[in-house]
Amino acid sequence: MSLRNSPSCSFPCSVKDPPEPRRIKNFRIEHLRFKNDVKLLDKITQRISLSVSDSVITHIATGNEIDAIKNTDFELSSGVIYDACQELGVNAMPGLLYWEGNLMDKKNIVDQLSYYSREGNLGAGKIFHALVIKTGVCGDKIVDTALVNMYAKSGEIGSAMMVFDGMLSIDVASYNCLISGFLSSGMFEEALGFFVEMGVGEIRPNQHTYSILISGCGSVLAINEGIQLHAHVVKLQYVLNGVVANSLLTMYCKFGMMEDAQILFQSLHEKNVVSWTAIISGLYHKKAFEKALLQFYLMRQNGFEPNEHTLTLALSCCGAVKQFGDGYALHAQLLKNGMVSGVFVGTAIIDMYTELGQMDNAVKQLQEMGTVASVVSWNALIAGFVHNDKTEAALEAFCKMVFDNVPSNEYTLSIALKACSYLPSLSTSRQIHCWVIKANFERNLHVASSLIEAYAKCGNLADAEKVFYQISMPDIVSWNCLVKAYSQHGYFRKAVSVFKKMVVEGIKPSSSTFLAVLSACSHCGLVHEGKEFFKSMLMNNSIIPEETHYSCMVDLFSRSGQLVDALDFIKRLPIEPTASIWRPLLAGCKSHGDLQLGEYVANRILELEPNDASVYVTLSNMYSEVGRLADVVKQRELMTLKDVKKEPGYSWMEVKSKTYKFFSGDKTHPQTPEVYDLLEKLMKDFEETNHASTSSNTSTPHTELGQNHDRKLLYHSEKLAVCFGLLNLPAGSPIRIFKNIRVCSDCHTTMKHISKISERDIILRDNYRFHHFKRGCCSCGDFW
Ligand code: ZN
Ligand code: ZN
Repeated sequence: MSLRNSPSCSFPCSVKDPPEPRRIKNFRIEHLRFKNDVKLLDKITQRISLSVSDSVITHIATGNEIDAIKNTDFELSSGVIYDACQELGVNAMPGLLYWEGNLMDKKNIVDQLSYYSREGNLGAGKIFHALVIKTGVCGDKIVDTALVNMYAKSGEIGSAMMVFDGMLSIDVASYNCLISGFLSSGMFEEALGFFVEMGVGEIRPNQHTYSILISGCGSVLAINEGIQLHAHVVKLQYVLNGVVANSLLTMYCKFGMMEDAQILFQSLHEKNVVSWTAIISGLYHKKAFEKALLQFYLMRQNGFEPNEHTLTLALSCCGAVKQFGDGYALHAQLLKNGMVSGVFVGTAIIDMYTELGQMDNAVKQLQEMGTVASVVSWNALIAGFVHNDKTEAALEAFCKMVFDNVPSNEYTLSIALKACSYLPSLSTSRQIHCWVIKANFERNLHVASSLIEAYAKCGNLADAEKVFYQISMPDIVSWNCLVKAYSQHGYFRKAVSVFKKMVVEGIKPSSSTFLAVLSACSHCGLVHEGKEFFKSMLMNNSIIPEETHYSCMVDLFSRSGQLVDALDFIKRLPIEPTASIWRPLLAGCKSHGDLQLGEYVANRILELEPNDASVYVTLSNMYSEVGRLADVVKQRELMTLKDVKKEPGYSWMEVKSKTYKFFSGDKTHPQTPEVYDLLEKLMKDFEETNHASTSSNTSTPHTELGQNHDRKLLYHSEKLAVCFGLLNLPAGSPIRIFKNIRVCSDCHTTMKHISKISERDIILRDNYRFHHFKRGCCSCGDFW
């Protein structure tokens, strides 16, 4: 025994200090469930022409079945049982109909019961239970243990306990079945209770008992109990047993205690594929992908053939560490061994190629799997496309899946909706919504949340709200989606009030709820409330703030002009401030005209991210505002020198389910003359009616460095898009435009104007947020 910390034991492995034997208190209530199954007995006894009286049923329920059987006589044939199964709509074990020996032969009964428990066909199993009772075979230890096992494995732990309690003699195998049943039903405490009961009774736990319990400790991460059981098996010299050793190994891996696992692994005399796989899996879950891969090669060098699980892990490792060579080699080998068409390994290959960004290979693999490809395989492919920024391909794959009649699950629909929100495409979101209803996933919380998110991101807040209010019991994820939706769309006070409502309804806010509400506070200037929310994160909710929360707080101070407080906040952070934390302060310096602090902050950002074009642009705009033209030129030169390029701005929109893209000054579209004519007309009208107000607004249009020329501003992509929308969308319908970079103030003013004179709602999403223009005003209150 060579563990770092020698485990000690507090279980009663000898008779010293025996605890009270324990049973489950509210157990009897569960028995009642068994009574319902008496209907089955009723049915079958009718079939075999037995007169079933109420007394028989009572006898069965009370366990006095022997008496009942004494008063019965009937003939039994496999045909009769087979027919009974048919009538009850359950599948009988193959071969039953042609059974020629004694049906009530012990071995046959045990075989039948194990078959039905393996197949998860409890109904047929119960028929045999009924027969066991009728024919008086019950009371046999082996048959009863098989019954305990069947009920325990099917999750009917109450029925299992009833059979167990009625057993005339109990042995370690019956205990093991019951303990295993408790564990698979998530009743760890009860399992441990029965183990302790064994420790003080006559029946001693054997190697299987330990192996079952140790695996249970691994599953529920019961570290203390696990280590104590390890001490036990060392003392009892069971540790050399292959099954026990492997369960210990798996347990330590699940605990993440890889050092202990490795020591144990090295000490094993007989390693097998299970022990190797346990170690590889442990390393994989610790994200030590290279080490896991190394162990995989070592395993093969030592002459062990990997199983499906090992192969799946190895493929995932290749994907995670971007080992193209290893991945191809492994794939080739699997092809040679004919193992690629199995659903597990096949899907793992798809996953690997999506991780490696090789979507063509992933598609090829799915095709090669043919009908074997399951919903999981399709999901892997669709998610892979989204992961690789190929949202349109993701949606195509989704359509193909529907076309191929592969039934989708909640994950498929969520990922397809995610693709819609990335595009973003309102029409596709609506189509998938229809599919959600058709496939009966409307009430699924996961899908509903994805719908809220998709609608919100496609600019349709009203439908997002509608979906939320149709959910009967929204969970934290759905609430988060709604808070986020309001916040992104500029309805900050609504976001804050929904947050408060959520807390009142007893939902504990999560890290991302706080992010959404802090951002809302920052946008509507609720500095005090924002500070309180931030404080309550850690104090009342034990959520440790992350970089994004800090950045939001800096934004909160900076927007409201409390620049010194923002700086002070950054300096007192428990983490090194990142560029994302500094950036909102630079924006604050810009809007509140603090050039000196702005320069200081710009330098901090450039130290961290020397190629951030937005810093040069902001600084240059700040210099230009105070007339320091030489510095403007210098910034521009610096950008050229460092080869920093600003991302070219473009906008896109959907008209009749088709997406149209516009660049600044774009003249490639067939409708170009009409679009430009309309824009000129609108601008002329704007200048005439609003000349006074625009000339008083002296702020220079920002963000478009080197383009502060009136003509160029006129043709910014979102202006072209809005005119295209006016020309092509039905009167009165809202115009939804998406832009890859922040909207400039000139375009913002123009949009307000157009929304007024055209009497249209314009929803513009830039890379920061949504602007809802309505009757000449914007939801952002002109501050963004
Ligand atoms: Zn613009
Ligand atoms: Zn706005």
